[in-house]
Amino acid sequence: MGNKKKKSRIDEEHGLMQKIVALCKRRGFIFQSSEIYGGLKSAYDYGPLGVELKRNVMNEWWRSMVHEREDVVGLDASIMMSSEVWKASGHLSGFSDPLVDCKICKARFRADKAPKVEVGTEVTFRQQGKTVKQKAERDYVCPECGSPVLSEERAFNLMFKTSIGPVESDDSVVYLRPETAQAMFVNFLNVQQTYRLRLPFGIAQQGKSFRNEITVEHFIFRSCEFEQMEMEFFCEPDQGEKWLEYWKNERFNWYVELGCKKENLRARPHEPDELAHYAAGCYDIEYQYPWGWDELEGVANRTDYDLAKHQEASGKKLTYFDPLKTNPQTGKQGLHYLPYVIEPAAGATRSVLMFLLDAYDEEPPSESRKEGRVVLRLHPRLAPIKVAVLPLVKKDAGLTEKARQIVKQFWKNSINAFYDEKDAIGRRYARQDEAGTPFCLTVDGQTKEDDTVTIRYRDDMRQERIDVATAVQTVVDKIRE
Ligand code: ATP
Repeated sequence: MGNKKKKSRIDEEHGLMQKIVALCKRRGFIFQSSEIYGGLKSAYDYGPLGVELKRNVMNEWWRSMVHEREDVVGLDASIMMSSEVWKASGHLSGFSDPLVDCKICKARFRADKAPKVEVGTEVTFRQQGKTVKQKAERDYVCPECGSPVLSEERAFNLMFKTSIGPVESDDSVVYLRPETAQAMFVNFLNVQQTYRLRLPFGIAQQGKSFRNEITVEHFIFRSCEFEQMEMEFFCEPDQGEKWLEYWKNERFNWYVELGCKKENLRARPHEPDELAHYAAGCYDIEYQYPWGWDELEGVANRTDYDLAKHQEASGKKLTYFDPLKTNPQTGKQGLHYLPYVIEPAAGATRSVLMFLLDAYDEEPPSESRKEGRVVLRLHPRLAPIKVAVLPLVKKDAGLTEKARQIVKQFWKNSINAFYDEKDAIGRRYARQDEAGTPFCLTVDGQTKEDDTVTIRYRDDMRQERIDVATAVQTVVDKIRE
């Protein structure tokens, strides 16, 4: 890796990422966990605005994946599962990262994420203040100091281990789930039979997952506790390829519909040597983060690998019965077989970071505005607060009372409205712009005369008068647009 490229990436990342981290803290989106004790690395708390944003992202996913479809149903399984699940799925033996120590600066890092070099090339790095040159024996170097002087690779299992019950023994061991997917496989027949589902159909789940990540990086991009949004779509084996393309497109379009800029997104097919051993095809939906293209979501054809493994390990038949298919061996009507699975696996917390990065904008001062502004151009459906209701002056009891009545109208219609009477109106608008609030309603002297308010639009700061009676409907229509 050329030094120049590395420098500019880091500079850029510091710029935008630092602004996002600072905004998240300043405005109550995201805090470091246990901050008053110095902070717990790799865990985060979502504050008043952050919890709304995260819930909105997850609710939008649920709406598009479950509520608006006939062929997908939901599940909410426990985080702790029998250890047998992880033995069968391969997570106990194989869910590990290659871990390496740098012998020069003592950094510990993941070999597969380290900067690439060509084997045999001469690499320059600093050791005790001196410049040293040495040939690279592997195709990567230390991400911290750039040295090729490295320990052997060790496999490090990413699952968090704990135990159930008062006595710790081999039988009491449980793991915090590292993905939500396995619960969908082990519940495949429970859901299919109780809900009388026919192929193709999907089971969707959202929730916390835990991975003891060696390298936690880029704020909430990679943390040890995070949230996922995953769906397992069961289909006939020969339909796998078709459904993989379908879900890749659906998922790509979901981000675009929620306002993510298309030029910052791509669906990258996996190279054959990158594919998981059980997968028959995979796309990474990637976003152009400040540090470069990186994963947002994986969409994979997992074949019948997981169902076959659980069937074998549990001794319970997990086949699907299709009464309309003919058994090729017996010629009889009805066939038992294991379906293939297409899995769109997205990160909810990683999506929150992506939407924040994509929405962040700074406007310089202009002729009509003395001060510049920071504005989060979040899609109205994702915005934590949908509408702020602002009495122009707080000394006028008539105005504050009217504004409070309007706020209540929004609450009655399940719209998260926010009442604010503190500070000058310009500062209140600026606070809402930074929070991503798409609409502000200002209640002023004229409201008392003709029952109208000013609606101000976040993105272009346009203002117009609307009737109080139609305010809720106007905002509802704009959110649904
Ligand atoms: P990566 O290559 O970034 O480690 P992965 O390929 O291991 O990710 P999957 O196992 O496919 O990820 O998980 C599906 C999704 O869950 C990812 O696309 C990502 O959005 C999210 N995810 C995975 N690990 C983390 C983590 N440590 N922190 C936050 N989100 C994560």
